[in-house]
Amino acid sequence: MPEHRGLELPPRTRLTPQRRAVLDVVADHPGAFTALDIFERARRKHRGLGLATTYRTIELLRRTGYARPLSTRDGPAYVRCAPGHHHHLVCLTCGGVEDTKLCAAPSAAELRRRHGFSPETHEVGIYGTCRNCA
Ligand SMILES: [Zn+2]
Ligand SMILES: [Zn+2]
Ligand SMILES: [Zn+2]
Repeated sequence: MPEHRGLELPPRTRLTPQRRAVLDVVADHPGAFTALDIFERARRKHRGLGLATTYRTIELLRRTGYARPLSTRDGPAYVRCAPGHHHHLVCLTCGGVEDTKLCAAPSAAELRRRHGFSPETHEVGIYGTCRNCA
């Protein structure tokens, strides 16, 4: 998979200079971000970058598990992430995001029994106040 600064894109995706600029900014960005945040910073590194390319590149990272969607007080956002099962503790004061392995999602067996539903994945964001802001 094309890789840049620890962030992977799906197989056979070309790592263009525009995408590289987006990945650079995502790699350096702590906490939650919106596509517009990333676009404004990445455009300073690559003037030809468009907002649509920024959105598409973040969506590519979402497919590989290196970005995940969040909803914040200010609306939809993303967070830099890594593949593997975990959830996010999102601080509503500072916007910081911490990973947790704690999970209380219903089991696949229980979902099948009660709803006839076969789950593939789930997303849970936990919102509150971090220890630094408490
Ligand atoms: Zn994560
Ligand atoms: Zn905080
Ligand atoms: Zn979970």
